[in-house]
Amino acid sequence: MNLTNLAQLDHEGLKAFFSDLGEKPFRARQILQWIHQRGITDFALMTDMSLALRQKLSEVAEIKFPRVLLRKPSQDGTRKWLMQMDDGNVIETVYIPEENRGTLCISSQVGCMLTCTFCSTGTQGFNRNLSTAEIIGQLWVAVRELSEENGHHDRHITNIVMMGMGEPLLNFDQVVPALRLMLDDYSYGLSKRRVTLSTSGVVPEIDRLKEACQVSLAVSLHAPNDALRDEIVPINRKYPLHELMRACRDYVGHDPHKSITFEYVMLQEVNDFKHHAEELIALVQDLPCKFNLIPFNPFPGTKYQRSSNNRIHAFKDILEKAGFVTTIRKTRGDDIDAACGQLVGEVQDRTRRQEKFKQSLAAQDA
Ligand code: SF4
Repeated sequence: MNLTNLAQLDHEGLKAFFSDLGEKPFRARQILQWIHQRGITDFALMTDMSLALRQKLSEVAEIKFPRVLLRKPSQDGTRKWLMQMDDGNVIETVYIPEENRGTLCISSQVGCMLTCTFCSTGTQGFNRNLSTAEIIGQLWVAVRELSEENGHHDRHITNIVMMGMGEPLLNFDQVVPALRLMLDDYSYGLSKRRVTLSTSGVVPEIDRLKEACQVSLAVSLHAPNDALRDEIVPINRKYPLHELMRACRDYVGHDPHKSITFEYVMLQEVNDFKHHAEELIALVQDLPCKFNLIPFNPFPGTKYQRSSNNRIHAFKDILEKAGFVTTIRKTRGDDIDAACGQLVGEVQDRTRRQEKFKQSLAAQDA
């Protein structure tokens, strides 16, 4: 008999599971607390449930998360975990401590179907979607490991960004229950403002997310016009900028507390000219938003270079003068390859995209 993995279920899913067992809905709250707040995966230890129920659970269910294959601490406090799934696939999760917060960067897929040209994950191809248990499992593991290390149970993870490997909105059905678990008071209880999903711009799924779970939204913009964005973020050919901007406006709606974060990777003499900053300002007019400029992290085989500090700061000045909050992402964890766009795992490319990508690079060089 197939066991149900309870790590796969959010609050509603657990209520349905217990209802099928003829149990009351409050069991869902109890089990969420055991699993996600106390870190217990052994039914025998869940002492506020009757022996009979615990016995029953061990016959029909299990609680399974990814296992840690490797831990890599970095000089600057950043740490990276390689986590292994049951089928041998490996994913990466990165923790970035800062003065007043700790951010966990979570992956949603093994590899990525999209081919953003500045991203090393994008050059590797796609293997499969992660399950809800594998997504929330990254948080479960990180919370346990960080607490154990410090010998107490302080909250180390204050923010979550779905910005690791993969396009989260192309794994919508598994990602949304994981987001709900992050927000649920009986599991992690994070506020919507502190959970950010980063998308390359899958417009129909942005619309769906608005209805399903309104976390903060970051959009990988990287170019201010369709011609350039078609090249850097190829999904733009399917969902061009005017559609993306419409979806962003709808996502924010009339809520004065909401805004979009636009990520913009700084590529030397590609998208970092003064006129690009001016185009950006025109593009996002009237949309509550801020900009996060990301110094590009070169990886083997890339045709891009990181913009110089002067160019990055000049770009920032133009946006700021127009009234937009603009930050420059600090490069962190360079020594463990944990910096953005460097989440390279052992992806077995089932789409053979990697070979095609290498061929296209070779063709460009020829
Ligand atoms: S930037 Fe994100 S969406 Fe684009 S290829 Fe990389 S992982 Fe995929």
